[in-house]
Amino acid sequence: MHDDLEKILFTHEQIHQRIAEVAAAISRDYEGRELMLVAVLKGAVFFLTHLAEALTVPAQIDFLGIASFSPGRVLPGVVRISKDLDLDILDKEVLVIEDIVDTGLTLRYLLNILSGRQPRSLAVCTFLDKPTRRLVEIPVRYSCFEVPDRFVVGFGLDYNQQYRTLPCVGILRSHIYQGK
Ligand code: 5GP
Repeated sequence: MHDDLEKILFTHEQIHQRIAEVAAAISRDYEGRELMLVAVLKGAVFFLTHLAEALTVPAQIDFLGIASFSPGRVLPGVVRISKDLDLDILDKEVLVIEDIVDTGLTLRYLLNILSGRQPRSLAVCTFLDKPTRRLVEIPVRYSCFEVPDRFVVGFGLDYNQQYRTLPCVGILRSHIYQGK
């Protein structure tokens, strides 16, 4: 699988170290409170588990599944919830765990829905951030790494359901992925 990468951006060790730093920052900020981590399936699952085990504050975990509508039929970035939360977030300290923020449209949609359920607080923690692609402003409180405007895979991020299990993050060779 590594042969399909043009370049490795972050090794497993670098990822681990950075997640530990972010987990320490979150633990400081939320000291004395209980978190509810809301992870967006499936890409954020690797990040969620590594982050959660490094937190020193108690945390509940839940999952949101989202599906994009088929391209060409509606506006880009229009998504729907394919699996809703099992838990009630009313009055909870919610931290949304994302794999990557690109245009920001997906998160804007999710944050609108979640804020309507009246959590005590609502913030975003993303594994990767592609700030140069942003179309809407998103309040990203925690981010592990910024990435260039290239298609990246690994550590949960896929292309066609492949490459999620790579222990590193890298840029996918463009002959494999076209059009991003
Ligand atoms: P946004 O709505 O912010 O444009 O898109 C966010 C979603 O697009 C991410 O959750 C992810 O599924 C997908 N995405 C955006 N950029 C990349 C990328 O470089 N690699 C992968 N694997 N997915 C990406």
